[in-house]
Formats: sequence, C-alpha cells, structure tokens
Amino acid sequence: MPGKIIVAIDGPSGAGKSTVSKRLADELGYVYIDTGAMYRAIGWKAVKLGVLPKEGPELAALCANTEVRLGLVDGEPKVYVDGEDVTGLIRTPEMSMTASAVSAQPSVRARLLELQRDMGRGGGVVLEGRDIGTVVFPDAGIKFFLVADVAERARRRYEELKAKGVDVDLAKTLEEVEKRDYDDSSRGIAPLVKADDALVVDTTKMTIDEVVAFMKERVEEAAKP
Ligand code: C5P
Repeated sequence: MPGKIIVAIDGPSGAGKSTVSKRLADELGYVYIDTGAMYRAIGWKAVKLGVLPKEGPELAALCANTEVRLGLVDGEPKVYVDGEDVTGLIRTPEMSMTASAVSAQPSVRARLLELQRDMGRGGGVVLEGRDIGTVVFPDAGIKFFLVADVAERARRRYEELKAKGVDVDLAKTLEEVEKRDYDDSSRGIAPLVKADDALVVDTTKMTIDEVVAFMKERVEEAAKP
C-alpha cells in the first residue's frame, strides 16, 4: 500500500491550480487545502471591519482573533470565517486584490503558516498556493509548479468570473492578473517562486484531464514506499 504524502502545488493565478488540485485530491482520496482561500478569508474580514490591509496592530489582532476553516459540503469546498460561510463572497476581483495585499503582511503569513502546517502535517493532503513547496512544506513528498501563458491565464479568470455572473472586462482582468503576478513574486516574505525540486507543468495547451492524469501518476510514484 502506498503511503499518503504531502502534495505541494504552487504557481501564479489562472495556471489551473484550484481545478486540478481539487480533482487530484478527489482521485487520490486526499484532503484538498486551498491556501489562497485562507488569504481571501482574512482579506474579507479586514474589509468588513475596515482594517487596512497593511501591517499594524489592528491587522495582527484581526489575525489572532479570526477562525478560518475549510470544509467540504457535497464534494464542494467551503470557506468559513468565524463560522460564517464566505465561499461565494471571497471570489470577486476585489477580494483577489485584497487577498494579495494582506498576504504580503508578516502577521497574516505567520498565522496562516501555522494553520496550514497543522492541517497538512499528517500527509494525505494536496495543498495549493504560492509558497507551499518553498515555505509551508519544503519537505513535501512531491512538488509541482503550474504555469501557463499570461493571456491564457487571464482568459480563464475572465471566463470563470463571467460564468459566476460577475461583470468583467478581459483587458482589466489581464491587468489584474499581471499586477498580482508582480506583487506576489516581488514581495519580501514567501514570494511566489518555484522550489528547486518542483516539477514544472505548463498547462497552456493541456486539458484538465491531461494535467490531472500526469500529476496523479507522479504522486503515485512518489508515494511508493
Ligand atoms: O490562489 P488565490 O488566487 O485564491 O490566492 C489569492 C492571493 O493569496 C494570491 O494572489 C496571493 O497573494 C495570496 N496567496 C499567498 N500564498 C499562498 C496562497 C495565496 O500569498 N500560499
């Protein structure tokens, strides 16, 4: 019987991380942990309380006093902040930018790092984010770094938001994706960067099925005793 390992999946937004991570976790019987949703959750609460997404005692206190929980209802991932279901509320373009802003702050990263390590420690988990293979679990059983051309990533974000009924514009979506790429990659702590030992998967021209099949095979190999 193969053991259950920690699967780290990083990459920029729109590379396909959420879709494939969820599917991969399902097929492996692993727990799916969307760490971006946790940053979105903190961002959502900061906006709600009128706390600036900048470092300071207010943001630090907010992190210490916020319960962020990930759940699964009928196979669909859910995000709860202090018990309130915020799953639908944290997926707007504004929340993407707010999540990116709070995620650059040390108190936020320290708090969520602790939570993520607690959730993943036992293995049998697929974690997706920006710093899983570099910071959260540098000893993960396997690491992937998903990439795709920026125009394709913007197109995917645009289609995803449009399907949800959000009023979006493709040029603006491209601008936001580029800004988030830049901000996430250039911040001082835990920037978005490929771990030396991560496998790069360019999803630009691959179907979801192809990406998941490729990754599943690699995980099964890595999990062999
Ligand atoms: O993956 P998602 O787009 O939901 O992430 C939202 C934001 O949260 C990212 O743009 C990034 O700034 C931040 N994030 C992070 N570290 C992670 C996951 C997400 O800094 N592990």
